[in-house]
Amino acid sequence: MPMIAMIDRLLALFFPETCYGCQTAGTALCPACIGHIPLALPIENQGHAIALFDYGHPLVRQAVWELKYHRKSSAMKALVQHGTETLHAFVQDFSKKGQHIVLVPIPQYRTKTFSRGFNQSALIARWLQSVIPDTVVQSLLAKTRSTIPQAHTKSRQQRLRNQYHAMCIKNDQTLDPHTLYIIIDDVITTGGTVNEASRALRAAGARHIGAIAVAHGYADKSALTFRIS
Ligand SMILES: [Zn+2]
Repeated sequence: MPMIAMIDRLLALFFPETCYGCQTAGTALCPACIGHIPLALPIENQGHAIALFDYGHPLVRQAVWELKYHRKSSAMKALVQHGTETLHAFVQDFSKKGQHIVLVPIPQYRTKTFSRGFNQSALIARWLQSVIPDTVVQSLLAKTRSTIPQAHTKSRQQRLRNQYHAMCIKNDQTLDPHTLYIIIDDVITTGGTVNEASRALRAAGARHIGAIAVAHGYADKSALTFRIS
């Protein structure tokens, strides 16, 4: 059992969870509350990318924060599981029959991983692997330098500079041009991170690329800076 799941179980034993939305005991996000959060649709005009929920919704924001900063994973996991059917349909829509599908978590710069002890995108990728059939998780990417969160950047130019060549493929691998690589992130804000991951995968030989995020945090779709396919 992964460390984070063990910590979750121990915490649940001593501090039973209550739903962030309605305070029902026994779960961090109950099915009724999740049912009231509207599902986001594929991110139009940006290629094969989807974000399940709007980050602007308070329950989604809390689920993202609890995972990222307090290592509490159950609400986020409930959101991913709620989106299973949507994700199935999304992946089926653009994958070819029999195509290998690899889920590629967005990497964290090493010092960030050490300070938090885990990479939330890798955790999300593992949950997705268990709900989308015939997929594997491979951490193909590494961050070459630390970047500031895209949401803290002030201009489009700064955003582009912030992400420019911030990621590379691990061990100089060559990727299979027939495999579908799906980039996994917790939140798509400007799309700059996904764009940079896509560039690194493409440079290593990937030709089929998609992206899945649990939430999107942009206020205006026209602010998105990426396009992948
Ligand atoms: Zn509830």
